[in-house]
Amino acid sequence: MEVSSKNLLVDPFGRQISYLRLSVTDRCNFRCIYCMSEEMEFLPKSKVLSLEELYLIGKAFNELGVSKIRLTGGEPLVRNDIVSLAKKLSNLPRLHELVMTTNGALLQHMALPLRDAGIKRLNISIDSLDRRSFRNLTRYGNLEQVERGIEAALEVGFDRIKLNSVILKGKNDNEVIDLVNFARDKDLDLTFIEEMPLGNIKTHQRKETLMTSEKLRNLISSHYMLRPLGEPGKLDGPSRYYGMEGTRTKIGFISPHSNNFCHLCNRVRVTAEGRLLLCLGHENSIDLRAILRNKKANFEDLKRAIVTGLSNKPLSHEFKENHEPAVLRFMNATGG
Ligand code: SAM
Ligand code: SF4
Repeated sequence: MEVSSKNLLVDPFGRQISYLRLSVTDRCNFRCIYCMSEEMEFLPKSKVLSLEELYLIGKAFNELGVSKIRLTGGEPLVRNDIVSLAKKLSNLPRLHELVMTTNGALLQHMALPLRDAGIKRLNISIDSLDRRSFRNLTRYGNLEQVERGIEAALEVGFDRIKLNSVILKGKNDNEVIDLVNFARDKDLDLTFIEEMPLGNIKTHQRKETLMTSEKLRNLISSHYMLRPLGEPGKLDGPSRYYGMEGTRTKIGFISPHSNNFCHLCNRVRVTAEGRLLLCLGHENSIDLRAILRNKKANFEDLKRAIVTGLSNKPLSHEFKENHEPAVLRFMNATGG
């Protein structure tokens, strides 16, 4: 029996899933201290989805009603042939938007091919504008390289570019206003993400470094008049956005700790090894790679597994008060 092409992706709580975050690799050229530990073991290549498998997953979700796909990782730009995958995905008939989250390090030479391949918008992560602090936060990152990447993306002209920053008390909380000014001067949006307790890290105690969205908002409000742009919505995702007087820049806050946004959740994630994760804060997953590599299974079986899997989507994440890891996988494995 064929799975119908109407949007079948409605979970048991009535939430319609229209957005897929597809991790194309767990590898990265950085080791951000809140995302990874210093010594990471990455997946053997044989366990990572091939480009064709990634495409089939995108196609299956698209046929089931997903209209937006975000390519992420790990660092999506370290994946070989990412441009050809983007080109194929952006041609999916029901896809409204193909977007990407990147650390920007390889953007200088890839911005143009990515835009030509159909990537509409970019999120670029940048947590510091100070060379040394940037290196400390990313362990391997080179700030100038990322800045050149941002410039290249600006020149190429994406529909919109948004910066993402994770602020940690005692590490980069002195740079919040600099980051806001940087975004304003370049006419970019900027979202601050509260650090989430994913994976065991040794560099800092998350409960001590957490900078809540409320603290950041108060800090920015003492410099700029912030105008609320409505409640987080299905289109904008979990960010709560504010306008800044006299600019187009929107400042967003993602607050998994201080503001539970799960009732608006319209997304699922597929990891680089093909696990369909129904919630960032839960371990349960469905092994789509096993279906893709099962010679007896076909494309309809893949779609059926996705639809069936969705019946297990939990109502919400449960990040603990004590900031202990809610799940042991790191964000790079999750597909940020
Ligand atoms: N490598 C790309 C990048 O850094 O933009 C894409 C993948 S990364 C996992 C996606 C986003 O997740 C980044 O903006 C990063 O700052 C964020 N992130 C990683 N670990 C996090 C954590 N523990 N809590 C909150 N955000 C995290
Ligand atoms: Fe790499 Fe992105 Fe994780 Fe930093 S946040 S280590 S750039 S995957």
